[in-house]
Amino acid sequence: MLGIERIHSVKAVAIAVVLAPLLVACGSYVPPSATFAALAPSANDWSAALARPARVTLETFEAGRIRVRLSEVLDLKDPRAHELHDEETFVPVFAHLLHHDDLGDYLIDAGLDASFQTTTSGDIGGLFAFKIYAVQRPGEDIASRLLERHASLQGIFFTHLHPDHLSGATSLPKNIKYVAGPGETPKSVGFFFYEDALRGVTALQTFDFTHAPSMPPLGPCIDVFGDGSLWAISTPGHTDGHVSYLVVTKSGPVLLTGDRWSGCRATPAEASSTELHPATSMMARERTHAEVSINSLRLHVHTRR
Ligand SMILES: [Zn+2]
Repeated sequence: MLGIERIHSVKAVAIAVVLAPLLVACGSYVPPSATFAALAPSANDWSAALARPARVTLETFEAGRIRVRLSEVLDLKDPRAHELHDEETFVPVFAHLLHHDDLGDYLIDAGLDASFQTTTSGDIGGLFAFKIYAVQRPGEDIASRLLERHASLQGIFFTHLHPDHLSGATSLPKNIKYVAGPGETPKSVGFFFYEDALRGVTALQTFDFTHAPSMPPLGPCIDVFGDGSLWAISTPGHTDGHVSYLVVTKSGPVLLTGDRWSGCRATPAEASSTELHPATSMMARERTHAEVSINSLRLHVHTRR
């Protein structure tokens, strides 16, 4: 008996010795962080903000399609979803090109790079890279989209850093602005799952909403360019640092909400319970935050109609 226990403990030590260096050595590259230097806002309420002359245009690309389960992107417990079954489907991966008359071209999310044309996990590394399954046609990758439009990219603003919003950065210039929400880093689980799309980026700037002016009903918002063209809105839920963007285009305001709702699966009862399994508790927190975020976005859209 003692012999068997010793064999097991020797095995455990051997596995730990092999895995530990791999967990430390592998992992997504995370650039040094810096706080985004916010300018003074051009307006303190939405009536004033939306009355300003628009300086930007916005174009949305489909950079490919990613496989998901319906329950990951829709609340199947909602009575309106009663005819739907939880099954796998493909959803578009979007990236948005913002052109500012004076400041040039910026992306909101980076979509996918061309590696997804040859392998369904693209540039994701690690044992569980296969969990990402996306497809792409030639010409849909973000670099081709920008080349086709002769865009000269000045920066990328991310809703969050999940692979389907980040991977395109692999093929994009690194000497430009990279900006995300507070605490956002590329998904990384040692050698099990990692992505190096940000390697070469000298600083990942993050929004600091703690000092941003409140713009009811959306709460703290950052006037990204200081001229009312692009507003960053804190919408935690899908990730803690998730950001939505309001773009005031020449064709009218456009609200880009990223994955704000997706994946927040706890029920309201679970969310209000104080005795939760840690994993459920995490999702409950996500859903609670997501509900606050989505309700404020809905209110904003309805009051602007
Ligand atoms: Zn996501």
